[in-house]
Amino acid sequence: MNKKLNGDSSLDRLVHLKDILDAKWLSLQIKLDILAVVLGIKPASRIFLLPTTVAGLAENLIALGVSIEVGSGMVSQPISRNTWSYTHDTVGDINERLLQKFNILYISLDEANAISAKMADEQGDDFCLGLVLGYPRCCIDHTVGSGGVPSNGFYVEQAISLGHYNPLVWPPALQYDAYILHHHPCSINCNESARLARWI
Ligand SMILES: [Zn+2]
Repeated sequence: MNKKLNGDSSLDRLVHLKDILDAKWLSLQIKLDILAVVLGIKPASRIFLLPTTVAGLAENLIALGVSIEVGSGMVSQPISRNTWSYTHDTVGDINERLLQKFNILYISLDEANAISAKMADEQGDDFCLGLVLGYPRCCIDHTVGSGGVPSNGFYVEQAISLGHYNPLVWPPALQYDAYILHHHPCSINCNESARLARWI
């Protein structure tokens, strides 16, 4: 299922990939999200970047044959105890002010997927966005059904209840930039999420 890098010089493309992986200004999660696209593990990814870093990354992505769609704007993510919910119209909360500092890119080896991801995100269609970003169906259904992605508390309570956790499927690690996946799983026991984490 892995795809070879496109183009006439695989070596040149590996140099561009190394540039991305070596970049100290990119988080581990963004690097893994890019790798998942370039290696064909995910159909598309959505990445958040400071404006000053977009040009340098875009140059390497284009050289790798990756299509890029630039988002029109950010969405805010007010936090409740059990879910995060996307809104396009919340004004003034700290999350929105933070997120407004970032640019959003939708990337894919297939331009149509990058466009679909941008459209789904900006239309608030979490189901279609999840599909094109390669998230497991069970996790998409859980997020859409509960009105937003689960908070860390949801997973911590599960771990306490179960008496264990799987470090491959552990969203609270995101705050330390140590999370392998790019979606919020339906549970810390989600088999599809664990399978995807092993790929990544
Ligand atoms: Zn799941």
